[in-house]
Amino acid sequence: MTLNPNLTEPRASFVTHLECSMTGEHYPADQPRGLSSVGRPVIVRYDLAALKAALPRALVEARPTDLWRWRELLPVRDAANIVSLGEVETPLIPVPRSGGAKVLVKDEGRLPTGSFKARGLVMAVSMAKALGVTRIAIPTNGNAGAALAAYASRAGIETIVLCPDDTPEINVREIALQGARVYRVNGLIDDCGAIVAKGAAEGRWYDVSTLKEPYRIEGKKTMGLELAAQFGWELPDAIFYPTGGGTGLIGMWKAFAELEALGWIGAKRPKMFAVQASGCAPMVKAFEEGKEHAERWENAHTIASGIRVPRAVGDFLILRAVRESGGIAMAVDDPAIEAAVERCAREDGLLLCPEGGATLAAYHQARAQGLVSADDRVVLFNCATGLKYPMPDRSKTLDRHAAIDLAAL
Ligand SMILES: *Cc1c(COP(=O)(O)O)cnc(C)c1O
Repeated sequence: MTLNPNLTEPRASFVTHLECSMTGEHYPADQPRGLSSVGRPVIVRYDLAALKAALPRALVEARPTDLWRWRELLPVRDAANIVSLGEVETPLIPVPRSGGAKVLVKDEGRLPTGSFKARGLVMAVSMAKALGVTRIAIPTNGNAGAALAAYASRAGIETIVLCPDDTPEINVREIALQGARVYRVNGLIDDCGAIVAKGAAEGRWYDVSTLKEPYRIEGKKTMGLELAAQFGWELPDAIFYPTGGGTGLIGMWKAFAELEALGWIGAKRPKMFAVQASGCAPMVKAFEEGKEHAERWENAHTIASGIRVPRAVGDFLILRAVRESGGIAMAVDDPAIEAAVERCAREDGLLLCPEGGATLAAYHQARAQGLVSADDRVVLFNCATGLKYPMPDRSKTLDRHAAIDLAAL
């Protein structure tokens, strides 16, 4: 694709500083950074006024549509540090039968390692490389560990991955195959996170847990940037997001604010629906109780392993975005998730992951409750390829040595 010769390329990144998401305290950019001094997520800030002056929207529109199209709004300053595996823009797939005429699935399963964790980890690892980090550790329910392993191995960074011992087998094996040391832990993801935090406090490795370093959210933010471009700089009416740690939801909310500051979109925001499983729904409980923070969810269980997150360090950011948007946090049970996955595959030919199935189930629940209408333009997030999850066996056997009734097949 050729660029308009009248548009000159501006500098690579417009990062000014890092900031505590709770207190607003500033920290210098371009340093490896964990949580803020009050133990909350640290976010990246940009000189949006300078960016607005330097970067016409038309220049971005003229570029290839991959994730690096947004480089001025991302933290990597020197392109030489980008550790890419081909971060494509993901398509919006209509699901007219299982969803509705105006329902689109953003299919994140097309990204490297088969999940949207690639967006966050490509950024965290590229920044880790830029900042001279040599060893990284992560707690994971599967997909984050896989994305980290792939990018870190590519960057020559040593990686240690801790996952619950019932993490889907394919995740555990892909993590190891992609060069990380993977350990199955007899606990949940926050139990794994506590071990990773202890090692980080002792200076053994850089902790890239969800929202415990500033850069994964910047990568996840590109989902919001992409949606704005794909919808012609006008956002959809509602977004259903399967919420674990909430990086994507918080990241999209940040993206919309930045795009409005640039004058690229208006003030209209989608209703944000934070979707959880009824066996692990801390955000739903806090939302319904009107609280700013969520309590840990005990005995968390669901087949949607990516959203089995009993405690989220960015809980208040998730709840704030959902409330500001006029959406809600809502829970769906595992049978509804399984039914939604089957229906979408059978009727629309799109194999969702269980977390994606949860958004489809939640959409129908929201329709029944009158929270969205058939006329609303809706985006459901399918965060990973359905191929990474166990599937029911619905096959029959055929004996090639016996008489086969072909008409009956
Ligand atoms: C990680 C993950 C989620 C949750 O994403 P967050 O942004 O951390 O809330 C949902 N679905 C899948 C498949 C995941 O891997």
